[in-house]
Amino acid sequence: MYVIFFGPPGVGKGTQALVIAERYGWAHISTGDMLRAHVKDGTALGVKAKSFMDQGLLVPDDLVIDMFLDRLGRLRADQGFVLDGFPRTLVQALALDTALASHGKAIDLAVNITAPDDVLVERMMGRAAESGRSDDTPEAIRTRLEVQKPPAELLDHYRAAGKLRDVDGQPDVETVTSAIISALGVSAASTS
Ligand code: AMP
Repeated sequence: MYVIFFGPPGVGKGTQALVIAERYGWAHISTGDMLRAHVKDGTALGVKAKSFMDQGLLVPDDLVIDMFLDRLGRLRADQGFVLDGFPRTLVQALALDTALASHGKAIDLAVNITAPDDVLVERMMGRAAESGRSDDTPEAIRTRLEVQKPPAELLDHYRAAGKLRDVDGQPDVETVTSAIISALGVSAASTS
């Protein structure tokens, strides 16, 4: 099964994507992790991406799409995947659709994990305090939230195709996982 996880920062999207990928034996593809590895290794892509990431901005579509399609091309044909952090824009979503369609495939479902902005800002403030980032003011965090939230046109792309499922991200991790599993439906248990 091919699944996308959408959600604003602080909603627990990465945690849930990992849990679900492991449970079903699907690949977990996080473009944030891939970009951080490029930055750490000092690759040409990493050097270009770093300034955008440091400012809390999205990395330009062409850079991310090339990196993502390369990863997608190396997936086993029989393996499912969970996308965590890609697509972030409609342009990226269309590139994904085209790449899958060229193999006669398509995204099965997009899970949109939600929580009110105030809850997210509070969680992000907590994380900033834990990691000692005192420059993270509520205003800076709200701005990052606006930039990093999935845009309406992106969600609408999957909603219009009948593939979007909203899941409340506010309860504890296990409860959210259960809600995601039921949103995925029985098909998740029987397919790779
Ligand atoms: P994440 O770990 O998904 O929050 O991503 C960390 C950072 O990497 C984001 O703030 C963006 O700067 C960048 N990034 C990750 N995925 C994408 C994407 N699909 N498009 C653009 N930028 C991305």
